[in-house]
Amino acid sequence: MGESKLYIVSTPIGNLEDITLRALETLKKVDYIACEDTEHSLKLLNHYGIKKPLISYWSEKEKVRAEEIINKIKTGKTIALITDAGTPGISDPGAVVISRAIQEGIDIIPIPGPTAIITALSISGLSTEEFTFIGFLPVKQSQRKKKLLQLCRQQRTIVFYEAPHRILQSLYDMLEILGNRKVCIARELTKMFEEVLRGNLEDVILKLEESKIAGEYVIVVEGASKVQNNFEEALNEVLDLMKKGKGRKEAVKIVSELYNISKKELYEKSLKREESE
Ligand code: SAM
Repeated sequence: MGESKLYIVSTPIGNLEDITLRALETLKKVDYIACEDTEHSLKLLNHYGIKKPLISYWSEKEKVRAEEIINKIKTGKTIALITDAGTPGISDPGAVVISRAIQEGIDIIPIPGPTAIITALSISGLSTEEFTFIGFLPVKQSQRKKKLLQLCRQQRTIVFYEAPHRILQSLYDMLEILGNRKVCIARELTKMFEEVLRGNLEDVILKLEESKIAGEYVIVVEGASKVQNNFEEALNEVLDLMKKGKGRKEAVKIVSELYNISKKELYEKSLKREESE
């Protein structure tokens, strides 16, 4: 083609039919397709009869492969970048190639399509007005709790990706730190075993504990309410007073009267908060 372009192409998140006409047309016309796992992408490409030279790049090889991709584009080739599923760069590789292409003044053309965040958020029933996308929470529990603490006061809906073997533990941590909020768990979206659970965190945890946990999951959690924020503020005041030398009991008494909230809850939450910090 001699066009020197980099196309960033979204591919299905499960159902192979979820691909745009423009994505197919692009994959058919480019000189190379850069993908993560060649075997995985071949299922999609074979389904649509697309035969192209593949450049395999995955996160560990992204830097080296990015140079290869940039050099090819500079010699007049066109490359489509795809990942195993969804939109490149969204909890997936892509960012390194894109920033190198920007540095080199290469044209970058987005070919939009599916992504699990928006698919889950759109059917969650939770507010879509403002939302925060976190991607995967840290694997280490202390780091995960720290991240949740940073999020606990913000009022936007929060979207997480999570691996099946960690989902319950992450939900337990969310319940402890964010409180019993509304949540939507979207599993295997667009696939044969698609399933959506809605309820509060306690309900959904009970359901998951009783079911077989497998597949891919998105967790959408309601943002903090104003009342919750008041509670958080009160909790922080208790901790502040304690840092200034007051005993827990005394600090809780002062603050609970000030905010008109339960002494017992404030006492217990202040203990838990200190443990997770
Ligand atoms: N780039 C992808 C996107 O645009 O959504 C995300 C890739 S990330 C490595 C994979 C994670 O996305 C999974 O662990 C899961 O949390 C989420 N995910 C991807 N496909 C999904 C699906 N069909 N149903 C539910 N979650 C999905």
